[in-house]
Amino acid sequence: MPAKGVLVAVTADVVIAGGGVIGTAIAWRAAMAGLDVVLADPAQGDAASLVAAGMLAPVSEALFGEGALLRINLLAVARFGSFAAELEEVTGQRIGLRREGTLAIAYDPGDYAALMRLTAFRRSAGLDAVELDSRACRKLESFLTPDVHGGVLFAGDWSVDNRRYAAALREAAAAAKVRIVRDRVTEVLTRDGRTRGARLADGGEIASAQVVVAAGCGSSAIAGLPAEVRAAVRPVKGQLLRLRHPDAMPPVISHTIRATVRGADVYLVPRADGEVIVGATQEERGPDRTVTAGGVHDLLHDAMSVLPVTSELILAETCAGLRPGTPDNGPIVGGFGAGDGAGNGPGNGPGNGQRGLLLATGHYRNGILMSPVTADAIVACLTGQPLAAEWEPFTPGRFMSRPGAREGSR
Ligand SMILES: Cc1cc2nc3c(=O)[nH]c(=O)nc-3n(C[C@H](O)[C@H](O)[C@H](O)COP(=O)(O)OP(=O)(O)OC[C@H]3O[C@@H](n4cnc5c(N)ncnc54)[C@H](O)[C@@H]3O)c2cc1C
Repeated sequence: MPAKGVLVAVTADVVIAGGGVIGTAIAWRAAMAGLDVVLADPAQGDAASLVAAGMLAPVSEALFGEGALLRINLLAVARFGSFAAELEEVTGQRIGLRREGTLAIAYDPGDYAALMRLTAFRRSAGLDAVELDSRACRKLESFLTPDVHGGVLFAGDWSVDNRRYAAALREAAAAAKVRIVRDRVTEVLTRDGRTRGARLADGGEIASAQVVVAAGCGSSAIAGLPAEVRAAVRPVKGQLLRLRHPDAMPPVISHTIRATVRGADVYLVPRADGEVIVGATQEERGPDRTVTAGGVHDLLHDAMSVLPVTSELILAETCAGLRPGTPDNGPIVGGFGAGDGAGNGPGNGPGNGQRGLLLATGHYRNGILMSPVTADAIVACLTGQPLAAEWEPFTPGRFMSRPGAREGSR
């Protein structure tokens, strides 16, 4: 493997910038489709993918006015099972997929009324929701506070251990002969409207007719992308806690629990190995990834309000990550061609960008969930197939106001 600082001539069928779950899932599937893949990432340890809670929660994440996102998220959870099974089979690793669902709880009649409005909306979209009174909630989760007013079980939500998942993806990609370059992509290179490769921070270049930008919120710093697309991706900070059961203490929850405490949302996600994830803050603070005393305090306070026994768990880790947010909360997936979203297939017009450039970023709160379907969509583009119709609301073109608005390409 070329190391950082070593200038070598590298060529590939496709370069992927970014090795979080999105870039690594694409790399694995692209290599499985027969492509020669280089994945460039200076430090996968900074990825939001390693901070996330791992909820696969199309139902409890479904909000008013986000119908297209809900459709993709439902396809994503439906795809996750077979994708996870193949990944586990290939790697021999267990990734901690859980299917117990989410228990959303409300404290007072006001919270409950708000939950019921969301529940009616979710039901109108065909989603499964079972209303539960206080006693029924506590029958499901016996450590819940007695103050709970009522709740709803959303059985369509799953969860996964995102760190195990990311590790398994890396192993599967390596087994599929994906080449890793430990460096940052600084620029997507073009000539005459066609992608010709990627420039690295060490000054080296990788020659490739196709480049996929999957660098999470780092995507906005890569030159050669349309300016509007770069501007559309912003970091949304999230602080999160990892708690552990003391030895001999049985698991305190079996469902993902979500609640609103003093207007702030908190969730607790159980893991098979006894870890409990408590998350998460939502902060507009640019690239700041610090963990604050206030953030930890609020998360612990809110978690203890929902589940008082939280105070007996071990505070194993505090962390913060940057969600790649977008103005409409939807991902940015596809390319700039007229037909397939990629500009790669025969018969496509030039679109309003360059051929061979694909985006897979902006997955905001649902990037773990959407990683398998994103990989499917991007690999379809890379192999000359059309982008599936459900992705049309999420192509980069929605942010483009004028043709050819690229920045820094040459
Ligand atoms: C607190 C928190 C909780 C979350 N909970 C959930 C959840 O429960 N469920 C869910 O589905 N999602 C969740 N998310 C969102 C999810 O983590 C993200 O949507 C997802 O991880 C995005 O994946 P990614 O691969 O696009 O980006 P990342 O995981 O951020 O990876 C980007 C990678 O690109 C690399 N990179 C950056 N710049 C460059 C460059 N110029 N060249 C090459 N490489 C580069 C970085 O080093 C990094 O490894 C959560 C996020 C946070 C922060």
